Amino acid sequence: MQVKVRMAELIKIINKLNYDYYTLDRPSVSDQEYDRYLQELIALEAKYPTLVSPDSPTQRVGGEVLATFKKVTHQIPLLSLGNVFNESEIISLDTRIKKVISTPTYICELKIDGLAVALTYRKGKLVTGATRGDGFIGEDITANVRTVKSIPLTLTKPIDIEVRGEIYMSKKAFLKLNNIRQKNHMELFQNPRNAAAGSVRQLDPKIAARRNLEAFIYHLPNAREYGLLSHYDSLLFLQELGFRINPHNKLLNNINEVVSFINNWSTEKEELPYEIDGIVIKINDIAHQELLGYTSRHPKWALAYKFPAMEVITQLKDIVFTVGRTGKITPNAILEPVRVAGSTVRKATLHNEAFVVSKDIKIGDVVTIRKAGDVIPEVVKVLKERRDGTERGFIMIKKCPICNSHLVKKVNEAAYLCPNNNCDARQIEALIHFTSRQAMNIVGLGERIIEDFYNLGYLKTFVDIYRLKDYQTALIELEGFGPKSVTNLLTSITASKNNSLEKLVFALGIKHVGAKTAKVLAQTFKTMDNLINASLEQLLSINDIGRKTAESLLNYFADNNNLAVIKSLKAMGINMLYKFKEPIRKNELFYNKTFVITGTLNQMTREEATEKIVGLGGNVTNTVTSKTDVLIVGNKPGGKYKKAQSLNVMIWDENQFLKNI
Ligand code: NAD
Repeated sequence: MQVKVRMAELIKIINKLNYDYYTLDRPSVSDQEYDRYLQELIALEAKYPTLVSPDSPTQRVGGEVLATFKKVTHQIPLLSLGNVFNESEIISLDTRIKKVISTPTYICELKIDGLAVALTYRKGKLVTGATRGDGFIGEDITANVRTVKSIPLTLTKPIDIEVRGEIYMSKKAFLKLNNIRQKNHMELFQNPRNAAAGSVRQLDPKIAARRNLEAFIYHLPNAREYGLLSHYDSLLFLQELGFRINPHNKLLNNINEVVSFINNWSTEKEELPYEIDGIVIKINDIAHQELLGYTSRHPKWALAYKFPAMEVITQLKDIVFTVGRTGKITPNAILEPVRVAGSTVRKATLHNEAFVVSKDIKIGDVVTIRKAGDVIPEVVKVLKERRDGTERGFIMIKKCPICNSHLVKKVNEAAYLCPNNNCDARQIEALIHFTSRQAMNIVGLGERIIEDFYNLGYLKTFVDIYRLKDYQTALIELEGFGPKSVTNLLTSITASKNNSLEKLVFALGIKHVGAKTAKVLAQTFKTMDNLINASLEQLLSINDIGRKTAESLLNYFADNNNLAVIKSLKAMGINMLYKFKEPIRKNELFYNKTFVITGTLNQMTREEATEKIVGLGGNVTNTVTSKTDVLIVGNKPGGKYKKAQSLNVMIWDENQFLKNI
């Protein structure tokens, strides 16, 4: 599409969305989708500056002013904020600023998700409250503002002053309001921001009074007139005057502190009683703010970091089918890769045929996807208005994509099943069995995760489990995972290499060989090679082994595929020996002792440390209990340190650990 045409199209779309959002307080798309349109337009305008239209929404702030309200002209325009969406953009901001100011000091503030308000006081008395409007002219909402209890009607000093802040609705008040509206069959507000905006922008102040609105004040436009030299000082001054200032505002010395502040609030934000949609980063020194100046739309000395979305829009490029451990067939959406909540998503589950049909999902559709706590996200809805006729309808498959068997569907069940017990898909079941507690005892690879990893292509065979460490970075990116859980998982995988033979024999899933039989076999034959080469007579001579089991074992070891699996496991370093009660390689400090590691080690990774401990006959677990023998403590230890102290568990620092090994 021609650039000019796309730009005109974007302007039309954004103007319509602005109208819905600012004028009607009824957004028709998510903020993330709106931001994507805006960012696309901003990027095109930056690339083709001669094509920038004077009526572009990038050239102005906010929305129209409702005719039902008296107009208020802002003496100093109320601007918007530029947006950044990731850490590297924050670092570039710092680099840009340092070209003008050598050592900037920052202030970070929570970006309250409400609506901006300008308050004017004469001789200490509130005279006007106004919305931002188009940044130059706002709506007079004084009567409604007076109902907001946290906005002082009289200041502690009889001065003339204009301040800016955010009116918002708490999460609790929002839920209560929507509950009442639901009971009265009224249209629900989509979020606290719209509820707050809808409450201050209606004509009857009695309604606003009932809505329990609150406010934080965050800006004094003419700080110098009051002898103030920094934003921080102006916040203190505002507080002295009786304004409510957010207690989490923080003065920060460098951009690394800014990034930490953001990271901290990315998780902590859920605990707040109100919604925030990001963090505002401001330059503290007023002289520095003046040096940096403004664009037509926003200050160059302040910027909003927007939290990543949990729900985003992307294109569904294809539908592929996977077979679960029970033979269940799942359609999966292949997506145009998109970032959701900090990781890149390429696939989403479509659950079953009925789900696809009920949502009328077609290949080529633009869809919203959401992370819902699982590794694989799900498709929420189709944006049908985006269809252009090239989309292809969904056709449910009739045969198993793995083994080609005809699929079957049980009465009253949504999913189709592959009826073939030998279908490759059963590998998932085999993997689940392999990792289970009585088998290789790999903690952190539960059924759901194995199924997801299988569908994502990380796990197909037993050996792949021991190759997961090669995907460490990719795994950390998955929903529900993080550096810590991936490290714990890899630690557990490494530890399983040292299991005694009976665990592996059971894990292989040989027909009729349960955990007890596996133990007897391991005790009798001592090594995997001996077991592989055992004759029918030898097997039958063992008390607990009957003919069925003996034949099953012979059949299993006669199959070259099975022998190849065992060979690859051996090559991966998995122990093939029965571990006698008496130590083979005895180190009294480690043998049969249970270790936990906390904090970061300097000399080796946790995985390497685990390997050493396991090699000396010890076990490594993740939780400190009364059964823990030793806690190894690295830098920045977690809560395990305190727990170990309270349980009187022996504690070694890294040096002591190194000495002992
Ligand atoms: P913004 O929300 O990105 O940032 C500016 C606003 O942040 C300020 O005007 C102020 O009201 C607020 N703010 C909160 N805490 C603050 C603090 N501590 N310091 C300074 N300001 C603070 O900009 P905007 O122009 O108000 O709105 C644009 C955004 O609104 C878009 O990025 C989008 O997310 C959303 N929007 C959505 C739609 C839609 O259809 N869904 C349409 C239009 C706009």
